[in-house]
Amino acid sequence: MSYVIPVAPPVGLPVSGTENQFPVRRIFCIGKNYSEHVREMGGDPQREEPLFFAKPADTVIGPGGVVPYPPGTQDLHFEVELVAALGRDVAADATVDTVRDAVLAYGIGIDLTRRDLQAEAKKRGRPWDMSKGFDASALCSALEPVERIGHPSAGEIGLDRDGEACQRGDLKDMVWSVADMLVALNRLISLKAGDLLYTGTPSGVGPVVAGQTLTVWAEGVARESWTLS
Ligand code: MN
Repeated sequence: MSYVIPVAPPVGLPVSGTENQFPVRRIFCIGKNYSEHVREMGGDPQREEPLFFAKPADTVIGPGGVVPYPPGTQDLHFEVELVAALGRDVAADATVDTVRDAVLAYGIGIDLTRRDLQAEAKKRGRPWDMSKGFDASALCSALEPVERIGHPSAGEIGLDRDGEACQRGDLKDMVWSVADMLVALNRLISLKAGDLLYTGTPSGVGPVVAGQTLTVWAEGVARESWTLS
């Protein structure tokens, strides 16, 4: 098979303990998954069904370094998130007891968001794509294999901006667990090996400007920093 234009290679993320890369197939994200963050965005954490959205696979930026400040926004926000990487396709009949077997590794990432465009989209009932799925919007650390770290379900998740404490949460306070999310999402699409899942952000989201450094971590998973240019 040949193609009429060159085929773009997949974006790869490093996997700790191996020379091989994880090929990113698709990126799915959940909104409103920590109660305090739902409240800070004006919602009710008890009443809303899981809200999924996606980013193109090539919006991923791997561990560390410099991230370009995107065009089209005056209010770029950070959202620290645990990231799950699927090493296998998820079976159609997967349950919350079996679905985690498809998770190969976890990382810590940032769901960069053009908050001004998102607010406008929400107000006008328009899609979120241009507020979420822009170039270099999905930051992710090196992936840490489950065989080394297990499945993180509790522990601090946080973000500092130039050393200032901004976001603090605990993985145990997710409204939907990673397993819950994967099962719910797999009812809407067929999850595949190579898919990444951004699992939502705790409270304390806020703006970042050029020149500032964001440092993120999830206890027992990973720690990483990026600087906006
Ligand atoms: Mn998010």
